[in-house]
Amino acid sequence: MVKKAKYVYAFGGGKADGKASMKALLGGKGANLAEMSNIGVPVPPGFTITTEVCDYFYKHGKKKPASLDKEIDEHIRKLEKKMNARLGDKGNPLLVSVRSGAAVSMPGMMDTVLNLGINDDTVEGLAKKTGNERMAWDSYRRFINMFGDVVMGVDHEHYEEALSKVKKAYKRKLDTELTTKELKEVVAEYKKVYKKHVGKGFPTHAREQLGYAIDAVIGSWNIPRAVAYRQINKLFGLKGTAVNVQAMAFGNMGDNSGTGVAFTRNPASGENKFFGEYLVNAQGEDVVAGIRTPEPISDLKRDMPKIYKQLDGIRLKLERHYRDMQDVEFTIQEGKLFMLQTRTGKRTGLAAIKIAVDMVKEGLISEEEALMRIEGDHLNQMLFPIFDLDDKAKAVADGRVLTKGLPAGPGAANGQIVFTADDAEAWAKAGKKVILVRKETSPEDVSGMWAAQAILTSTGGMTSHAAVVARGWGKCCVAGCGALEIDYTTKQVKVAGKVLKEGAAISVDGSTGEVIEGAVKTSDSPVIDGIVNNNSRAKQHPIYKMFVELMKWADNVREIKVRTNADSPKDAANARALGAQGIGLTRTEHMFFEGDRIWAIREMILADDLAGRETALAKLLPYQQKDFEGIFEAMNGLPVTIRLLDPPLHEFLPHDEAGQAEMAKRLATTSAKVKAKVDALHEMNPMLGHRGCRLSITYPEICKMQVTAIIEAACNVAKDKVKVLPEIMIPLIGTKQEFDILEAVVRETADAIIKARKARVKYMVGTMMEIPRATLVADQVAEKAEFFSFGTNDLTQMTLGYSRDDVGSFLPDYISKEIFREDPFASIDQGGVGQLVKLGVERGRKTRKDLKCGVCGEHGGEPASVKFFVGAGLNYVSCSPYRVPVARLAAAQAVIEKKGAKKKVAKKTAKKK
Ligand code: ADP
Ligand code: MG
Ligand code: MG
Repeated sequence: MVKKAKYVYAFGGGKADGKASMKALLGGKGANLAEMSNIGVPVPPGFTITTEVCDYFYKHGKKKPASLDKEIDEHIRKLEKKMNARLGDKGNPLLVSVRSGAAVSMPGMMDTVLNLGINDDTVEGLAKKTGNERMAWDSYRRFINMFGDVVMGVDHEHYEEALSKVKKAYKRKLDTELTTKELKEVVAEYKKVYKKHVGKGFPTHAREQLGYAIDAVIGSWNIPRAVAYRQINKLFGLKGTAVNVQAMAFGNMGDNSGTGVAFTRNPASGENKFFGEYLVNAQGEDVVAGIRTPEPISDLKRDMPKIYKQLDGIRLKLERHYRDMQDVEFTIQEGKLFMLQTRTGKRTGLAAIKIAVDMVKEGLISEEEALMRIEGDHLNQMLFPIFDLDDKAKAVADGRVLTKGLPAGPGAANGQIVFTADDAEAWAKAGKKVILVRKETSPEDVSGMWAAQAILTSTGGMTSHAAVVARGWGKCCVAGCGALEIDYTTKQVKVAGKVLKEGAAISVDGSTGEVIEGAVKTSDSPVIDGIVNNNSRAKQHPIYKMFVELMKWADNVREIKVRTNADSPKDAANARALGAQGIGLTRTEHMFFEGDRIWAIREMILADDLAGRETALAKLLPYQQKDFEGIFEAMNGLPVTIRLLDPPLHEFLPHDEAGQAEMAKRLATTSAKVKAKVDALHEMNPMLGHRGCRLSITYPEICKMQVTAIIEAACNVAKDKVKVLPEIMIPLIGTKQEFDILEAVVRETADAIIKARKARVKYMVGTMMEIPRATLVADQVAEKAEFFSFGTNDLTQMTLGYSRDDVGSFLPDYISKEIFREDPFASIDQGGVGQLVKLGVERGRKTRKDLKCGVCGEHGGEPASVKFFVGAGLNYVSCSPYRVPVARLAAAQAVIEKKGAKKKVAKKTAKKK
């Protein structure tokens, strides 16, 4: 017999059908409501309609499974029993909330309806039952508002208007000051609003209300702002949202009631201290909506000590159970505490690292688990700028601090003021740095928030939409800045007696909450200051210490090396300080643009014959040699991969008339001759033109000069006891023949010098793997090549046939249509380009078992790519200096994941036996 599908799972009252591990099916909210019930945390009972229903709905032309309604009805009956009340019952009504919740938390993306089940009859019953008439009518007006807004799409503003009218008539400032009689008037007004905008009366039947609300939650899965959020946060492959129907806990029953949100530790700093906000006599969304300014959780200790103690106990219980910092929602109904949600809390990079390191010390988690909890972005935030101390002190002394808000997302930023999310996006696209200034933000604003350097709001607390979203991204944010008088129509903000117009420069300190007029310079983080600048004071900084400790753990675990891409001794030294174990790519052409060198290379290009070219190259030689000496010294004891000249020659020539005239003058020739050369070198498709090894095939003297510079430099520094390990790399080969011809040139040149100087320098000769054909014939290439370095930028370009400079025009469409989930130039295309990397390694090692393989493209510093490369068996990844720490972390995570996966497989096979 086929088992009947189960679409509804109950929770509450000390047990549940589900549990925390069922997030994919029950959504995060539903799974954790079940889990909390199971571990004895007080949760109002209810049931969860699974994500499979949402999935089914969108796969079956927006129809729900046939058996669903019956199953819901059964669960309503069970819930009614538990609550000893009935949905829609005049005398003893049950009120419920209808809440969305996907497997991954999407803050504010989908809407919640509270107090469902209320109507003209049940409102009286509720009043009698609770002995609290005011609360009954307060719940009623909230329900009409939310139901109209969320389910029927009536703009919230219309209700606001109606409410303001009544408040004004009775001279009430706060909602909580409205009397029962006045609330009844609000209800009457709200009904009018509803009727006007929906075109028919308000549905009074409770089960009917529930049906509409469930449909609305399911329907909200595909509204544009939810889709946009999933795209920005790269949330793919989710089935949909679950729907949670839960008995109401009333936080609006007077001064012994309330509602709040909290984090078990500080989500900005990571400090192990209860952190949150609550509002007395309020319901759900009031706290996050920024309508009233909430009290800090510490006040709850004073006002309701017993509740605080219970809540603090639950905080510790949840942390011990989940072994991670939690973000919780709670409601107090007449001195009784209910937990409404728990989930892993979003946090800043700083908090992530502090919490992970602290939890290891507290014995809650292992070092490996701590490493798994740190994201690349978290580490990056440690490396982000803070305000330059002197410049900031000056701003303070000059009285440029305008006001102070809540430090909602640390970091420092400056930029130009814009007032709408759309403007933020447009200005940012035009290359401007902007600060988005809003009264509050809402999910519609996410794209603009993303585009801004920082977000500044005048209302809302540390858990407001702006704060939560910004922290999740590690973006600088100051919230609840009450002194800002923002006027959207004139696009200006008044503060501290000043008027700042759109476009004015301001600075925002997300760690202190300060808002400063003008642009304050930003400077390095303590980590960078300690590691790169070797500042001994910075090394005392707790952030520096945590960072170093965490990196030590990562290095203990990881198996592959991390190198850096660096073209100058300074970059090389910085990268080494950040943990680089060698250079994976030195681009020699960057050295050609400095100072007088460009004239030597231009002279070479202009020369008509070999003799002329050799004369010019001889001028370049000493420069190159000196550069290499500096790099070798900085990397003493570590390998240095040097790539021979790569770009097409025309890149070194001036393309404008004035430049050509100047060149003619300097090189004692005519403008016409220069122009003729430029024209001759013009290519239709320079990326596929005369570049890379093709240059040295035509002009071996270029290769000879560069090898001479490398080996002479190596011999020179070796004399001073510097340990040099040069790896000479031939770029852009597609055939074994190309490599073999140039390898012979390299060896002949190098060996002659080493012999003449009687030096003891060893070197290697290898190649870039960046043309697809090269990876296919890797076994042949490896006969002579001693190492491969996968140039994944070009390899991606050539494999996909997307010009990396022009991809911007169509890539956004490709991402939105999910042809690619990420920019393949940022994160390696594992199914395609990545396969060529694997193939190249395998084939190469078939010929040469110990073939050294690495990656030197942008992908070498991107966590997902790094993990892929670990799996592909590479010996190292190489990335830009500031990405080295992230690559070290990702390399460690890859090992831990592999081990974890192995363990799981072992368990499974054991079971099978
Ligand atoms: P979101 O996903 O936007 O956080 P929630 O489903 O958590 O939405 O609902 C928002 C708020 O509504 C919650 O923080 C909670 O305070 C309130 N709420 C939801 N369900 C109930 C309930 N059964 N009783 C009391 N308040 C509720
Ligand atoms: Mg919500
Ligand atoms: Mg919530």
